[in-house]
Amino acid sequence: EAKRLKCGVYVFNQQLDKKNARSAMIGKELNHALEKGEFSLVYQPQIDVVSKNVIGVEVLLRWHNEILHQVSPYEFIPIAESTGAILDIGNFVFEKAFEEFEDICNEIVKNNKKYTQANPFRLSINVSILQLSNENFLSNLFDLINKYDCENAKLMLEITETLIIENPRKIGTILEKIRQSGIEVSLDDFGTGYSSLSYLTKLPINELKIDQSFIHGLTTKKTNLTLVKSIINLGNSLGIKVLAEGVETNEELMILKNLKCQFIQGYYFSKPLNKTNLMNFLKEH
Ligand code: C2E
Ligand code: CA
Ligand code: CA
Ligand code: CA
Repeated sequence: EAKRLKCGVYVFNQQLDKKNARSAMIGKELNHALEKGEFSLVYQPQIDVVSKNVIGVEVLLRWHNEILHQVSPYEFIPIAESTGAILDIGNFVFEKAFEEFEDICNEIVKNNKKYTQANPFRLSINVSILQLSNENFLSNLFDLINKYDCENAKLMLEITETLIIENPRKIGTILEKIRQSGIEVSLDDFGTGYSSLSYLTKLPINELKIDQSFIHGLTTKKTNLTLVKSIINLGNSLGIKVLAEGVETNEELMILKNLKCQFIQGYYFSKPLNKTNLMNFLKEH
């Protein structure tokens, strides 16, 4: 028994060492990734369930490093958060997204009657806790908004619940300033956090984004269906729009439609696309 245990611990330690070595490598490579131009952005369309109109896109970061090759943001974002690199990387995401969106706006959004000031195209950007609580975040953001003005578009920030729970008062103040400047807020990965629901009525939140882990089992797991149904009902009764992410099949779409979910995003409609492919997608939809 003891022998087996020792062996198990050894294997476990070995795996842990490997993981730590990779994390360290990622952290090191991340330090030069911006200057080497290793980051790019892709955009995933978000669709209105009833009209099938594209309501906007979520901006997703991509990293290709010469040694590590393609690294998933699920892996490198937490490391960038722990080293602080997320601040510069986050600035890059905003600057690049606004820069690329200028063409998208001029060539597509402006010429499509679907998008108006009352019904604008949404550019949705993920924001980490460190970014949002940084003192320069809002002024940088307002500078960008003034530099690139697109009449029939609006900015939406995707933030996670944990961010709010850690410092509700400070985040509340920042979110209030964000709301006053016409920027909307989507609560990302909804359902995976601590579910202290009281802030939903207190904070200016415009959308609940149901995490894809609940959508994938929608047709097979009864608990997923129950949970998704109650999130949609919660949103509908509070007047907060609900978006389901990770929709891959027509069956999932039909269930969400019946449950009165407003928006969806997922491979069923489109994978994340680079700027050129997004522009073609938008011209066809
Ligand atoms: P997220 O915000 O929950 O984004 C959704 C993830 O699901 C994306 O992964 C997207 O590509 C993927 N996805 C979309 N539709 C489907 C589908 O139908 N099926 C499946 N299986 N997956 C789908 P991605 O691009 O790898 O991003 C992972 C996470 O990294 C994001 O999760 C987000 O938390 C974070 N992230 C990505 N870009 C940024 C960024 O610019 N800034 C920050 N702070 N975080 C980012
Ligand atoms: Ca997101
Ligand atoms: Ca997320
Ligand atoms: Ca998610």
